[in-house]
Parts: sequence; C-alpha cells; structure tokens
Amino acid sequence: MSKGKTQVPAIEGWFTTDRDAPALLGSRCTTCGTYFFPKESSFCRNPACSGTEFDEVPLSRRGTLWSFTDNRYQPPPPYVSADPFVPYAVAAVELAEEHMVVLGQLATGTDVADLHVGDEVELVLDTLHEDDDHEYLVWKWKPVSA
Ligand SMILES: [Zn+2]
Repeated sequence: MSKGKTQVPAIEGWFTTDRDAPALLGSRCTTCGTYFFPKESSFCRNPACSGTEFDEVPLSRRGTLWSFTDNRYQPPPPYVSADPFVPYAVAAVELAEEHMVVLGQLATGTDVADLHVGDEVELVLDTLHEDDDHEYLVWKWKPVSA
C-alpha cells in the first residue's frame, strides 16, 4: 500500500472496507433464510421458496479452503480481474456460517505448496490495481496461522 492514494472498492457494495475486519456483503432471503453472494435482490433462487425480499448481511470473515489452484486464466464475471490479467493463486472457500463457497484470490505471498483443503482462511483487503489517485481494493483469502 502506498501513501497518499484514496482507497476505494474495486466493486461497489460487495464488501465493507473496514481495514481491521472487512466482510463480504451478501443478502439473506427474509422468507427462507438462504444466503446469496453476490447479493440477490429480485427473487429467491431457492426453488422451494417464493421470497422476494432480502436483508443485506455481512458474511462470515472466516472459512475453510474447499479448493485452490494457481490460476492461469482470467475468471469470468462477476469476478473482477486486473487488466492486463496477471496469474495468481485463487481459492474457493466455504464460509464458516453460511456454508456457501466464495471464490477469491489468495493473499499476496501465499504459497499454494503450503496449503491443504480444509485449512482455515480469513478475509483481508488488498490492492487489486491502482491508478495515479486511487488504490482499488478487493477481498482476498489469507491462511490463518496457528
Ligand atoms: Zn427464499
């Protein structure tokens, strides 16, 4: 992180920007309680539910590694990538409370050789890319050291 630049989310409204305890922002169906990330706002995707109202909720900041890889290909939207694309390690993480799987980069400096499925990880914010005035932040998963 360099000084003097304004830190802004790379995508608006997907996560809080609290540096100490950032959290992804999802939605929860007020009828059946199903969680969604990215946020759902029109109708519940649970086929057994006809709910159309959702609360915005911060999601678990911790989860367990479900899968991970050194990513050599640009992931599809809604995932936001640097442009031009730079390969990085990516993880699918099952959130502790919601049991939903969220994709994200692994924190800078993470060596995939040290990772194992089931390892606990924590959400952090890191710079995705920057211009002259701004640092654009995105969430990443960082292994929780014992
Ligand atoms: Zn529902």
